[in-house]
Amino acid sequence: MPIFEYHCSQCEHEFEKLVFNSSEKIACPKCKSKKVTRMMSAFAFSSGGKFKSTASSSCGGCAATSCSTCGSK
Ligand SMILES: [Zn+2]
Repeated sequence: MPIFEYHCSQCEHEFEKLVFNSSEKIACPKCKSKKVTRMMSAFAFSSGGKFKSTASSSCGGCAATSCSTCGSK
């Protein structure tokens, strides 16, 4: 079942909610505000490609993925 984390920009309250209908309007349970932001899960962040820059480059001397072109040892 889809459980999403939400953050209320009105009162800074964070809460989790089961969402059966994606078009459902989510309101903060604390202040009843609808100014809530759905927070991305850790899985969604890792698949966004934010962490690939450190893993793909093996050369410390240049931006190439291998050191065969720059001779840095
Ligand atoms: Zn709130």
